[in-house]
Amino acid sequence: MHFHVITLFPKAFDSYLGESILKRAIEDKKIKVTFYNPRDFVENKWKRVDRPPYGGGPGLVIEALPVIKAIEKALKRTKKAKIIWLSPNKKQFTNEYAHKAAKLKHLVIVCGRYEGIDARVKKVFKMEEVSVGPYVLTGGELPAMVIMDTVSRQVPGVLGNIDSLEERRVASSDAYTRPEVFKYKNKSYKVPKILLSGHRAKIEEWKKKGR
Ligand code: SAM
Repeated sequence: MHFHVITLFPKAFDSYLGESILKRAIEDKKIKVTFYNPRDFVENKWKRVDRPPYGGGPGLVIEALPVIKAIEKALKRTKKAKIIWLSPNKKQFTNEYAHKAAKLKHLVIVCGRYEGIDARVKKVFKMEEVSVGPYVLTGGELPAMVIMDTVSRQVPGVLGNIDSLEERRVASSDAYTRPEVFKYKNKSYKVPKILLSGHRAKIEEWKKKGR
């Protein structure tokens, strides 16, 4: 799975991609992430990409052409790619969406900032407008990371054991580990008895209830 991320802030991804499972997935070549910065495609010497919006309003809008050129460069590496245009209030990103996306080889993710990107880019390329939730973030970098993380989990080999995929088994949102009992401020905290019973069917039933 090759993620192509169009962003003005590629460094924002460094820490998350540099840790734990995703770091290993990149090292093991299970996933690849390439960044394309629209600033690299502007002609002006100040590398300015944002302009005031037509029709007025606060905030700036990212110009269309540098974004178009960045997407074009990403598409040069592949003929077949799904392009995701991040936006609040659009189609909700889900596990099911991630599962389907993981079957593709290339995913281009376009991150907006400020008041967004000039909407004419959507006329140039066929894209899917996707939201990670009903709230507005300052930019598309966190949503892109959420999508890359969720899709990567579905890529064979990323989690090591495919049974780790919570989406494919009964998983409770409450989990327990050693010790069996611990004390905190004179109170004992115990692991639910059912989890120590060794009774698989009953444990699964308990987990289902806890979802
Ligand atoms: N008025 C803009 C709109 O409705 O698209 C919102 C701009 S928002 C401050 C800046 C950028 O962050 C958006 O262009 C989008 O790329 C990203 N963004 C913010 N919240 C998001 C969400 N919930 N899901 C996906 N992307 C989001």
